Amino acid sequence: MAPFQNLIGGQWVAGVDTAPNINPSDTGDIIGHYARGDASSVDAAVEAARAAFPGWAWASPQLRHDVLEGAAARILARKDELGRLLSREEGKTLAEGIGEVTRAAQIFRFFAGEALRLTGDVVQSVRPGVEAFVEREPLGVVGLITPWNFPIAIPVWKAAPALAYGNCVILKPADLTPGCAWEIASILKEAGCPDGVFNLVMGRGSNVGARMVEHPGIDAISFTGSVATGRRIGLQCMEAGKKVQMEMGGKNPMVVLDDADLDVAVGACVNGAFYSTGQRCTASSRLIVTDRIHDAFLDKLTAATTALRVGDALDPATQIGPVVDQSQLEQNLRYVELAREEGCDVIGGESLDGQGYFQRPAIFAGATNALRSSREEIFGPCASVIRVADYDAALATANDTDFGLSAGICTTSLKHASHFRRHAQAGMVMVNLPTAGVDYHVPFGGRKGSSYGAREQGSYAREFYTHVKTSYVAP
Ligand code: NAP
Repeated sequence: MAPFQNLIGGQWVAGVDTAPNINPSDTGDIIGHYARGDASSVDAAVEAARAAFPGWAWASPQLRHDVLEGAAARILARKDELGRLLSREEGKTLAEGIGEVTRAAQIFRFFAGEALRLTGDVVQSVRPGVEAFVEREPLGVVGLITPWNFPIAIPVWKAAPALAYGNCVILKPADLTPGCAWEIASILKEAGCPDGVFNLVMGRGSNVGARMVEHPGIDAISFTGSVATGRRIGLQCMEAGKKVQMEMGGKNPMVVLDDADLDVAVGACVNGAFYSTGQRCTASSRLIVTDRIHDAFLDKLTAATTALRVGDALDPATQIGPVVDQSQLEQNLRYVELAREEGCDVIGGESLDGQGYFQRPAIFAGATNALRSSREEIFGPCASVIRVADYDAALATANDTDFGLSAGICTTSLKHASHFRRHAQAGMVMVNLPTAGVDYHVPFGGRKGSSYGAREQGSYAREFYTHVKTSYVAP
């Protein structure tokens, strides 16, 4: 099969080499060979994007709407096939893969509408006879750097608003999962996206990503990934005067109070901690449980977790797919060992035989919030269970973290639910719902070490992808 190439200025072009895209459920299954670009590929993409920018920025919003709507329709028409590709390259189950692809179509459709809805304000000036206009303009060329864990949803939730508000785009997807990104590029081209408006440069972060961050022809960077990489990129962008937005890690708490519905709590915790193999920035990795319900909760959680079927992502019976690759699996196993050394009673967590990177979900029972295994993001199917005395201790423990992405509570008390909603130090709060699983038309993001800059998704996305211009006009 011919290698999948980069899209630069509307042309499919080779990179400097190629990399195999390997199925984590079956390492003998090569999905395809994908181009890896380098700094010169980024330079060419920037040149194409800059040339395309004036035309796209001043195009009728009808064109921008039609391109995004066309992409949505094409994705929906192919959702089963694309969902299969996603599950094959990333390892989430087929149901999760098809769900993520459907989400990508919904996001394109939402932003197709947003392209037509961009409004400004006309304000009476304090100076007699003068009018003030507040309008939004595109930034120019934006660089999108994305992780492997949502290989279609995250590139789309950045690219759709960027394009809707008149920017040109250069996307660098994670090197581990280029397949869905290549499909997005191909679909946008088919949907009539003008040459140079959307460019795809696949390859390594240390090479392609680094050049995007330093290139003076890129006006803004939207990054999702780890804290370490994000902080480095953020500092470089600030130094260069580039607008930057960073979505990073999490160590999300799920509080379970004595008065919780036990089935609701266990369901939310199993889903939040282990679905998508725990590889979600919003995963519930600290289960903070009050004293009286703790033992019953742990028994039920253990039974539900040990019953989960781990296996090939494409097998319809599978509930937990593989870990994404060998190095992530090794990292997870090191944390399982660490939790044991730190005194936790570890339930599950072992790797499983097979042609893929399979691991049983791990419960770290008897944990405290001070342990490294309770404080550092693992990004795998591992959850600490932390016993606390009461609601006040639970809230304090939930907030005692360097992160602040999502926080959940399971309770039947309106008083505690309302208090938690106001006092949880997180960008998103869930009541009687898993910490992971969000809508696409409302803001997404966190605080503390999890996020920096404007919110993503919904109409709030325009805060990042537009400049605000204020004009004063005298007659
Ligand atoms: P990562 O290692 O930080 O990589 C993210 C992206 O940055 C990849 O495309 C990577 O390229 C690129 N990159 C690496 N070094 C770079 C550099 N020096 N300059 C420019 N780009 C560079 O993160 P990951 O392992 O893919 O993803 C897992 C992390 O993402 C977790 O921490 C998770 O919590 C976080 N995440 C956060 C959110 C959120 O919205 N808060 C959502 C999903 C995931 P390569 O392909 O070469 O690695």
